[in-house]
Amino acid sequence: MCGIAGVFEAEGAAGLIASILFAIQHRGQESCGAAAREAGGRIVGHKGMGLVKQVLDEEVQARLSGATAIGHVRYPTAGCSDVVNAQPHLIELAEGPIMAISSNGDLINYGEVRGRLEREGVVFKSDNDAELIGRLIAMYHVRGLDIEAAIARVQSELKGAFSTVLMYRDRLYAFRDPHGFRPMVMGHLTHEGEGEPPSEGIVFSSESCGFGIVGARLLREVLPGQILRLEKGQPLRSVWHAPLQPRHCVFELIYFSRPDSSHFGESVYQTRQRIGACMAAKDGALANGDDLVVMPVPDSSNFIALGYAKAKGAEFGMGLLRNHYVGRTFIKPTQASRDEGVKQKFNPLPDFFPGKRVVLIDDSIVRGTSLRKLVRMVRQAGAKEIHVRIGSPKVIGPCFYGIDTPTREELIANRMSEAEIRDYLGADSLSWLDVVDFEAILPGRRQGFCTACFDLDYIYPPEGFATKTNAPAARETQPVG
Ligand code: SF4
Repeated sequence: MCGIAGVFEAEGAAGLIASILFAIQHRGQESCGAAAREAGGRIVGHKGMGLVKQVLDEEVQARLSGATAIGHVRYPTAGCSDVVNAQPHLIELAEGPIMAISSNGDLINYGEVRGRLEREGVVFKSDNDAELIGRLIAMYHVRGLDIEAAIARVQSELKGAFSTVLMYRDRLYAFRDPHGFRPMVMGHLTHEGEGEPPSEGIVFSSESCGFGIVGARLLREVLPGQILRLEKGQPLRSVWHAPLQPRHCVFELIYFSRPDSSHFGESVYQTRQRIGACMAAKDGALANGDDLVVMPVPDSSNFIALGYAKAKGAEFGMGLLRNHYVGRTFIKPTQASRDEGVKQKFNPLPDFFPGKRVVLIDDSIVRGTSLRKLVRMVRQAGAKEIHVRIGSPKVIGPCFYGIDTPTREELIANRMSEAEIRDYLGADSLSWLDVVDFEAILPGRRQGFCTACFDLDYIYPPEGFATKTNAPAARETQPVG
């Protein structure tokens, strides 16, 4: 998971990029960077390992002069943890460094396309998908396609997820893969009227939560398969649009995105509340009462728990306190760092738990190790019963479209029965959302979402990978109490 940002024709563009990236820092904390076009037309960049506040400080922002800039925050999904894989990537053409690219998402056919380019003599500086996209566009452009035709060709050749901003000469392009796996929204710094605004003052972000911090107003999403062109003195133009069946990542709504963002036509926090309400409606066997408290694993489960508590008419409580100076445990790259993160991150509220039956809501179970530690923490704090409710279906497959999930063998839902998982967690009962529940949570829109890590319905499965149609039967599916 990563985040992208773009600013076109606005004073202090690099500073605006840093602010947007800071607001979407939850999408990647390993490295970040920005690139801006100087008055002479040359693009200069700066990137490094670490957080936005550390890497893109005021001195760097001042050095990246220019009114148009792009940026990126990275969490490694493909490619090693090294600054060479930090983005944006600058692409040298015959005229010099006049192209730069940042992208969010992973490509299924990366190896095949890279091999083809290397046989053509293209030299790579990283093993990052965004560099491949940029070098492929540059190759077609050098061979005679105008830049928009080159982007459109690349869009149709690449399989997978890419929400991308690309600076080329005095233009900024924003484009998305034809299925729209990853979110990407467009805003304006001053435009208040109806219809398309002028290009000046346009901003892009992976999530709309990036706009408030720079005073921008959300205009709309960049559509799946769309190429937008921004050029000084010209109106904003959609120069190409070739969508396929949308496959928006449903996990963005469940977990990854900030609750104050809206994309895929949905408000993130409202979707999470609907998930909670749906779970509560199915949980009639768990009796309400004065001793029942519904509690999230903060923060990504807060609104799921709120929706559950409201629908059940039960008390909502914040019994676990989160230290906000610790990053997301899921997006730390090793199990050891994730384990340490759990201990540092959560603390039970004193005197909150004794005598309580706790409905502990989490957004997902991947390996189960973090949740096991939390259940133990809540039990030791005095809870008399712990009923774990998971706001997503069982994760049974990895993601190939930009989320770092483990191999199938590491996923707890593939290794244990539901009763075994309940016992492993130390919970009194355990249940998940079902994939069919998305019909009610996203009414009329279910087909527009990717749920492959829950049902193996991969639109682009890697060769030889077991999918919905050829996978072995899943293990038991009944809730366990
Ligand atoms: S496989 Fe899962 S995480 Fe990946 S895009 Fe699909 S829903 Fe999202």
